[in-house]
Amino acid sequence: MSDFKGPIAVVQPAIHLIGLPTDQNSSFERGAALGPAAIREALWSDRGNLSTEAGLEIGVDIDLVDKGDLPLSDIDCAADDIHITAAIQLAMGSGAVPISLGGDHAVTYPLVAAIAAKHGPFSILHFDAHPDLYADFEGNPRSHASPFARIMEAGHAKRLVQIGIRTLNRHCREQAEHYGVEILPMANFTPTHIPVLEGPLYISIDLDGIDPSEAPGVAHPEPGGLTVREVLACLAKQDARIVGADIVELNPARDVNGVSAILAAKLVRELAALIHMNNQEKP
Ligand code: MN
Ligand code: MN
Repeated sequence: MSDFKGPIAVVQPAIHLIGLPTDQNSSFERGAALGPAAIREALWSDRGNLSTEAGLEIGVDIDLVDKGDLPLSDIDCAADDIHITAAIQLAMGSGAVPISLGGDHAVTYPLVAAIAAKHGPFSILHFDAHPDLYADFEGNPRSHASPFARIMEAGHAKRLVQIGIRTLNRHCREQAEHYGVEILPMANFTPTHIPVLEGPLYISIDLDGIDPSEAPGVAHPEPGGLTVREVLACLAKQDARIVGADIVELNPARDVNGVSAILAAKLVRELAALIHMNNQEKP
C-alpha cells in the first residue's frame, strides 16, 4: 500500500462525440442524416472558438474526442440499432460519456437502451416542441414521433421531464398520463419551474424545442418555443452525474446561414462543460 501523500488526483471524464447520420424514421421530411456533419463543421470552424460559458475550454480543460460518424445503413433500423448500441458500449467501456449527434429523434431509443443496460433506469431531461410519445406514427413504432413511448414502456426512465412542449394532442396527453411523463408546457414557461433531477441523468435536445427564430433548421418548426438562454438556464440548474446526451433533428437543408448548426455546436460545448463539471470524481 502506498503512503504517497501527493496532490489528490481528480479524474477528468472523457467525452466522446458520436455522429448518427440517419433519418429513416422521419415522418414528414428527411434531411436530418446530414445533421452530424453540419454540427461537426460548425464546432471545429475557426468562425468561433472552443470556449464555454462556464469559462472551461474544449481541448484545454475538457477532454472532448470526436469519434466521427457511425457507418449506418439508414435503411435497416435493426442493423443500425446494433451499430449504435456497440458504439455506446465502446464509449462507456473506456470510461467516456457519449454525446450523440442526430439524425432524427428515433436514435434516442437505442442510445437510452444501451446506457440503461449499464446504469439502470435514470432521469431524462428532454427538450422538444413535441412529446414524441406516439404508440406508433402512421404504423411505425420506431418513428421519430415515438422514441419516448418506447423508452417508457421498456422502463429505462425513472423520471422523464419534457420541456418546450407546445403540440400536445389527445393521444399524446393520454400516453403521458399512462407512463407518468412530466410535461412542462411552453405556455407559462419559466426556467424557475424546472426541477433539479436526480442522477444518473440523460439529456436529449431536439432542436425544434427551441424557437424557430433561433433554430430554423428543423423539419417541424413550431412557433412559440424556448429561447437559447432558457435552454441554457435549464441545463445550468442540473447538478447530477450525466450518463449521456444527444442533440437531434438538425436538418441542414432547412437552415438559414448555418445558424442552427452553429447553435447545435454551442450546445455540444455547453453539454460537454456540464458533463465535465457534474461528473468529477473526487476520491
Ligand atoms: Mn420535435
Ligand atoms: Mn423530438
